[in-house]
Amino acid sequence: GKMEGGGNFTFYAADMNTWSRDRLKMEGALRHALANREFELFFQPQVDIHGNRLVGLESLIRWRKPGAGLVTPATFIPAAEECGVIRSIGEWALHEAAEQVARWSAEGLQPVPLAVNVSARQCSDMGVVEAIRSALACSRIDPGLLKIELTESTTMHNVDFVATLLDSVNRIGVGVAVDDFGTGYSSLSYLKRFPITELKIDKSFVGEIATGGDDAAIVRGTIALAHGLEMTVVAEGVETAAQLEFLAGHHCDVAQGYFFAEPMPASEVRRWLLAPPS
Ligand code: C2E
Ligand code: CA
Ligand code: CA
Ligand code: CA
Repeated sequence: GKMEGGGNFTFYAADMNTWSRDRLKMEGALRHALANREFELFFQPQVDIHGNRLVGLESLIRWRKPGAGLVTPATFIPAAEECGVIRSIGEWALHEAAEQVARWSAEGLQPVPLAVNVSARQCSDMGVVEAIRSALACSRIDPGLLKIELTESTTMHNVDFVATLLDSVNRIGVGVAVDDFGTGYSSLSYLKRFPITELKIDKSFVGEIATGGDDAAIVRGTIALAHGLEMTVVAEGVETAAQLEFLAGHHCDVAQGYFFAEPMPASEVRRWLLAPPS
């Protein structure tokens, strides 16, 4: 039975085998998907806090898996990080994002800065800086039209190296946003050391702000902190008018969330680049 040590060992060993087999299968599937061009970027509008101007877009990856429809990143990004394929996927995402900005420009649309999510695993060497340079060179877009988003935990990991890396990104002219702010353990002194242009308040705080309480206090504090450090504040996961009203009342700069729009394919972004949100 499960209470016996030997039984337990067999149980875990079998489990481990399945785990590494699944992992290899996943890695193969992800590499195949990349080669087969099954990944696609969706885009979510970022709107000024009064809701009358599009000020940015965040790219969010999707996997158009044959026979499985549209697969959300939560189901494959962690696996891609685990096996390292995230580096190749991340490089693809940077190139694709820059090319998309170039395509919108070529269509005569006025592009807005486009953010690309970057995983911690991509920040352990300067590869991501090379990928940014290469994406800019291939697309010939203005570097100011590209941003990267790193989670708070990524920035707190290997602080000295990440500071060097972000300095390079900053010198290229690409903005840096700290994603999911408030969920990690960042030290404010480190935050000040990084050339960060934007703080994104995690949607878990935004969800509760209109009801008052702790989350409202955290959001107010974050906005004050970011402005003190001369950063733009973006609230993610804005779903209701009440949340937007609270954020506007506390001088948050930018809102992103289902209240305005869900992530959408490139073709649907056109009308956002043409006209202000109603
Ligand atoms: P994230 O960067 O924190 O992105 C925000 C997530 O919240 C997105 O989920 C977005 O669709 C969702 N969202 C937007 N507005 C709302 C709202 O009003 N309410 C709620 N409940 N959710 C909202 P998505 O697209 O499934 O992406 C999940 C995560 O996958 C992202 O979280 C990011 O960490 C990761 N991810 C997405 N694309 C990439 C990528 O190209 N590279 C890497 N490394 N990670 C990515
Ligand atoms: Ca993000
Ligand atoms: Ca986020
Ligand atoms: Ca997140």
